[in-house]
Amino acid sequence: MITRLNSPDYDRWAAQVHRTGGCRQPIHLRGKVEHYDQATGRLLHRYTTRTEPDGVLRLPCKTRRASRCPSCAEVYRADTYHLIRAGLIGGKGVPETVTAHPTLFVTLTAPSFGPVHARREQNGKALPCHPRRDAATCPHGHTLSCTTKHAPDDPRLGEPLCPDCYDYTGSVLFNALAPLLWKRFADSLRRHLAKAGGLPLKDLRHHLTVSFAKVAEYQRRGAVHFHAVIRLDGPGGPTAPPPPWATTDTLTDAVHHAARVVSALVPAHEGQPARLFKWGTQLDTRPITLTGDLTEQAVAGYIAKYATKAAECVGTLDRRVNPLDNLDAYNLRDHARRLITECLRLGAIEALADLRLTQWAHMLGFRGHFSTRSRHYGPTLGDLRAAREHHARTDDITTGRLPLFDEDTVLVISEWQYAGKGHSAGDLLLTAALTGTPLPGGRP
Ligand SMILES: [Zn+2]
Ligand SMILES: [Zn+2]
Ligand SMILES: [Zn+2]
Repeated sequence: MITRLNSPDYDRWAAQVHRTGGCRQPIHLRGKVEHYDQATGRLLHRYTTRTEPDGVLRLPCKTRRASRCPSCAEVYRADTYHLIRAGLIGGKGVPETVTAHPTLFVTLTAPSFGPVHARREQNGKALPCHPRRDAATCPHGHTLSCTTKHAPDDPRLGEPLCPDCYDYTGSVLFNALAPLLWKRFADSLRRHLAKAGGLPLKDLRHHLTVSFAKVAEYQRRGAVHFHAVIRLDGPGGPTAPPPPWATTDTLTDAVHHAARVVSALVPAHEGQPARLFKWGTQLDTRPITLTGDLTEQAVAGYIAKYATKAAECVGTLDRRVNPLDNLDAYNLRDHARRLITECLRLGAIEALADLRLTQWAHMLGFRGHFSTRSRHYGPTLGDLRAAREHHARTDDITTGRLPLFDEDTVLVISEWQYAGKGHSAGDLLLTAALTGTPLPGGRP
């Protein structure tokens, strides 16, 4: 830290760190960019990292995971918020007429794998967790009842009443199948809508587009569920209205039907019979309106928040687990350790190899994308990033860091090499102090 503070190029280093927004694990690049006049071959401008601190340019890591880099995750969260919001009220290329399209906020949940400690509320008041007057005692000697009114930060939340009875196999297999269940749900939704409109499925797209944005969220018990915005558009996306028969009620019916009928099968293995998985019976569908109790702002906020969380909140790891790792060394919660152990056990079974449970043990079996949008939902993250880069470039030109060229007459030659990642311990402390970002481990 002292070496950095005393170095003659400290100001330049601090400027780089500011430009990464306080990224905790910036990418280091070594290279140069040269601008030549195409007509004369004259060198107009050269940028090289040779004169930069440590001979590298630091760029933000752009992760979405708050546990790895809070500042980049915050950029990702804000971008996601604006993408979801544009799809609900228009903007960034989506017409405002989209507000008239039937739109639902849908939560598809996992089924139960055994009773877990939960915080229940009624009108803001905490209720007993799992009260059972004549509760049975399980074979392991646990009374399957809990009358505690759990506080929101109670570490027992999401943990089974009896871990030995809990269906860990079911939980990780469900997570592994969740992306397939989602795909089948979306297909079934389209089939049902086609039927409602009296159309063959292959003609549906000439009348109607089902646009969606979805995020996966881990419940405290470690099972994945999905939150999705589902919107009905005309052919080709939000610029055209859906046909008159495609109402909010039609969509609600179709969602309920699709969520109920779809399933995915795990083949029989090692003496275990084949097992069919479906969505949980808890299905939440609510219309999104500008004035109702579920506003577009609230929905965009939820989705953006979930998009930066991974499985860490369950108490698992945020990186891959090696089957030979000693899990005890990670200081995991017992529940998370059992889920990971079950992934590793099932991952070694030939018949389940396609589920790749060993590779995704740290995600408790889930190997899907956290945040996805269909092609017509609205603008993409790439659109927003391009707009931001354009803005940064214009800023560089107006402040004299880059010359103003006519792009058609200039030849740009650039050469970049990856030169590492991250900060030294001293640089990390300075970065946190300079940019007000938290240090690993949550210290302020
Ligand atoms: Zn970062
Ligand atoms: Zn409880
Ligand atoms: Zn038990």
